[in-house]
Amino acid sequence: MIALYPGSFDPITYGHIDIILRAAKLCEKLIIVIMANEEKDGTFTYQERKKMIESCVSSLENVEVHIGTGLTIDYAEKVKADVLIRGIRAVTDYEYELQLATTNMALNGNIETLFLMTKPEYSFLSSSTAKIIAKNGGDLSYFVPDNVAEKLHAKFR
Ligand code: ADP
Repeated sequence: MIALYPGSFDPITYGHIDIILRAAKLCEKLIIVIMANEEKDGTFTYQERKKMIESCVSSLENVEVHIGTGLTIDYAEKVKADVLIRGIRAVTDYEYELQLATTNMALNGNIETLFLMTKPEYSFLSSSTAKIIAKNGGDLSYFVPDNVAEKLHAKFR
């Protein structure tokens, strides 16, 4: 099975990494794709995000990191993915994820969305809170790996 894990990863957090580690065990190949999104202004460039992800997953042999354009579901078809992976933190994620998964189902019924529930200890982690903490010079050690924390502090210094 080939799985595609799409997201903004702006930047990657321990919550994303937990999903990646667990998803990588379920499939032959896991492709993490940073979807280029014209509506969402990012903090980091796509290349910066890719480099940060790559240094976090370098020990995983069946994981690749891509930057994708267009619709996620079309990208999934292009790379021959069988499933999309998404993480769910709390009920608040559910409504958005349901809408996304249902839309993707309507666009392509052959590719399923697989949801992994976040580990409770990461359920409050998000890229946006990590950025707020970085802006205010707070401790990021619980949120992101050291290499990402350095980049975040440098960005907001
Ligand atoms: P998007 O803009 O596509 O929501 P994100 O990078 O914010 O991109 O999230 C990508 C995926 O990872 C989503 O399914 C999101 O719910 C999941 N995710 C984000 N943070 C966490 C976390 N702390 N634990 C588990 N899943 C998470």
